[in-house]
Amino acid sequence: MAQFANVMEVLSLLDKSNCRKCGEKTCMVFAASVFSGKRQLHECPTVSKEDIAKYGVQPKKRNKIEEENEKVLSLLKDRLASIDFEERAETIGATSHNGRITLKIMGKDFSVDKEGNAYTDIHVNPWVLIAALNYIIFSKAKPLSSNWVPLRELPSGKDWYRLFGQSCEKVLKKTADTYSDLFSDLVRMFSGTQVEDQFKSDVAVILSPLPLVPMLICYWKPEEGMESALGLFFDDTGEANLGIEGLYSLGVGFASMIEKLARQHGHSV
Ligand code: SF4
Repeated sequence: MAQFANVMEVLSLLDKSNCRKCGEKTCMVFAASVFSGKRQLHECPTVSKEDIAKYGVQPKKRNKIEEENEKVLSLLKDRLASIDFEERAETIGATSHNGRITLKIMGKDFSVDKEGNAYTDIHVNPWVLIAALNYIIFSKAKPLSSNWVPLRELPSGKDWYRLFGQSCEKVLKKTADTYSDLFSDLVRMFSGTQVEDQFKSDVAVILSPLPLVPMLICYWKPEEGMESALGLFFDDTGEANLGIEGLYSLGVGFASMIEKLARQHGHSV
């Protein structure tokens, strides 16, 4: 099977009409996704059968972030082996049974065994797994205060805020801009609760990605030449209950899950 040497080689096989049938805004974006292994050539309906057969399924290229996530997961899994599931379950609002600890993530059961293998119906990306393992191992299980704050106002938030804005809030905002049913779908699919009067936003939804780590998403629609805006807020106990790295992973994992969902529903992001 032939491998692509660069993005331009992929682009040369597309008709460059930017028709968006693949869900991407331009052929160039699609070509870059194929080159990185995120998308496959056959997802563009204009590519010839011969070219699809020639290039087949391209392997996903590992990037630095994936390698880093793998290292973090491996450290967390080592640590998990020494955790007393029964004792932790009582503390962190989970249950323990048959060598697994089970929590609710977005209202759905999510179990982990001693080796760190996850058992759940929801799509789990490595970010979400990192957040869940951080919660099981490190959560201080502080009672919620119901005082919502942005990440930058948490004790160690300043160092993470910019990166969080780029990798989480910006991704979610782009999704919300094009996916008009996003907030009602979050309520329907992830047991979210729509709330009023939150920071003067047009829409606000509270989600429970982990038992003691709720998340408030506020969206301000565009108006009079002003761009839309989106902010993600945590309870001010968030850092005690998940750690700043766990909160970062949770936000980025959630944003990437939602971006994928939007694409599946045919909303280009
Ligand atoms: S489907 Fe995507 S990649 Fe194919 S021609 Fe249309 S925009 Fe370009």
